[in-house]
Amino acid sequence: MHEYSVASAIVDQVKGIIEEHNASKVKKIIVSASPYDVIIPELLIEAYGIITNDLEKFTDSALEIQVGKAEIKCLECDYSGIPDEKGDPEFAYNFLCPKCGSRDTHINMKNLTIESVDLVIPDN
Ligand SMILES: [Zn+2]
Repeated sequence: MHEYSVASAIVDQVKGIIEEHNASKVKKIIVSASPYDVIIPELLIEAYGIITNDLEKFTDSALEIQVGKAEIKCLECDYSGIPDEKGDPEFAYNFLCPKCGSRDTHINMKNLTIESVDLVIPDN
């Protein structure tokens, strides 16, 4: 299950952040994904729940996944940004460049990234 290893990587990364900040607890983790990440958010949240089940600092924490918009890079004119969504449905993965109309575009794949971590940091 792909989501399981992704969730485990998120938890590992957050463990490092907890340590760095001497936090006692995690409240919320927000991650962002591109629409072409091969991730099923429900499964990721489920896997996160399983992994953090016996981790005290993760008790009652929430994982939120924000799916952003696809971005393209045009190989014709160098445009980079949001594609023309009217693109040809037959070429679902070949978006049109909104600047020059070329179909010679690449989707900028963005890996799942941690956007923010809400921590409880005890006063010393
Ligand atoms: Zn272009």
